[in-house]
Amino acid sequence: MFAQIEELIAEKRAAGIDLISLGIGDPETPTPSLVADVLCEHARNPSTHRYPSNKGRPSFREAVASFYATRFGVSLDPDTEIIPALGGKEAIANLNLAFLDPGDIALASDPGYPVYTSGPILAGADPFYLPLTPENDFLPDLDAIPAETLSRARMLYLNYPNNPTGAVVEGDFFARVVEFAKANDLVVIHDNAYSELTYDGYVAPSFLETPGAKDVGLEVFSLSKAYNMTGWRIAAVVGNAELARIYWQLKTNIDSGMFEAVQEAGAAALLSDQSSVAQMRETYRRRRDTLVPALQAIGLHVEPPKGTIYVWAPVPEGETSASFTEKMIDQAAVVMSPGTGFGPSGEGFVRMSLTLEDERLDEAAERIAALVGR
Ligand SMILES: *Cc1c(COP(=O)(O)O)cnc(C)c1O
Repeated sequence: MFAQIEELIAEKRAAGIDLISLGIGDPETPTPSLVADVLCEHARNPSTHRYPSNKGRPSFREAVASFYATRFGVSLDPDTEIIPALGGKEAIANLNLAFLDPGDIALASDPGYPVYTSGPILAGADPFYLPLTPENDFLPDLDAIPAETLSRARMLYLNYPNNPTGAVVEGDFFARVVEFAKANDLVVIHDNAYSELTYDGYVAPSFLETPGAKDVGLEVFSLSKAYNMTGWRIAAVVGNAELARIYWQLKTNIDSGMFEAVQEAGAAALLSDQSSVAQMRETYRRRRDTLVPALQAIGLHVEPPKGTIYVWAPVPEGETSASFTEKMIDQAAVVMSPGTGFGPSGEGFVRMSLTLEDERLDEAAERIAALVGR
């Protein structure tokens, strides 16, 4: 299916058609200049030029602790509960290697970030899909997991605000997760890539705010999306000290840590007044509110998401993810991601990313709306 869509894209481009891609979630806005300035300053300081300390600079770990205290009311010990990671992706891939043996199962939401399923396979373990559907508010139905699966399960991946569905958690879901993890001896990994990008007054929690969460899990906090730092490779693994130590012990065998000038820049981002993040929220909200009405105009039943940088939309009746994606390329010259790329339960959906310049996003919305009645 993807090869077919790639072929169609290549065909259109060769024919000189100006396609607008809403496919990839990678902020097009530059990293805040105050963060880049701190990098430059520290890059000239020879104290950052040697192998980094593999537990991270104290200044970075303290900045993460300070951010978690003020933003989430979560207290973290910078010495034992925070490990810098070379991006959330590295953390998730290595957490699989740290905690899974062949024969184990990792529970992963479907649709979901691909590393929750490829990571277990690389560790010789098996991923088990937990479907996220509109009927269950895009939260996994923990009670539907078969007992035999649960007995082999070692890890549970969660990600809210959620990529690709844009769903957020409300109510007692995280409290039920803590209880479930304790009852079934699971390590919970909450992938927190989008807590800072929410709309309409919704404020996303950290999983670690939930009483007991630190007993059962870790949170992966990435700076990529909140601070437009996808190219910098910076995140932190935070939470349970023993689990963090095991992750760190594995990681010291694989990489040699993060450039310390990058750690200083990340610390500056976390300790900044967060006005750049407020600006990004406003930018994405405006784009969301341009795109969603265009989708509604052509009959898609889509709600504006309260979080993330994506719109997840069900395709019209009679279409599949692939057929609708091809139709949009063909008729509107707009590229979306077919939902099936994120797992089998993504069938019947497409994902659109809000990470392209306003004029292009506006143009994409206009092209979609122009299909009304076609
Ligand atoms: C973007 C994203 C990440 C962040 O990845 P980095 O490696 O930190 O850039 C992690 N998880 C999800 C679900 C994402 O969408």
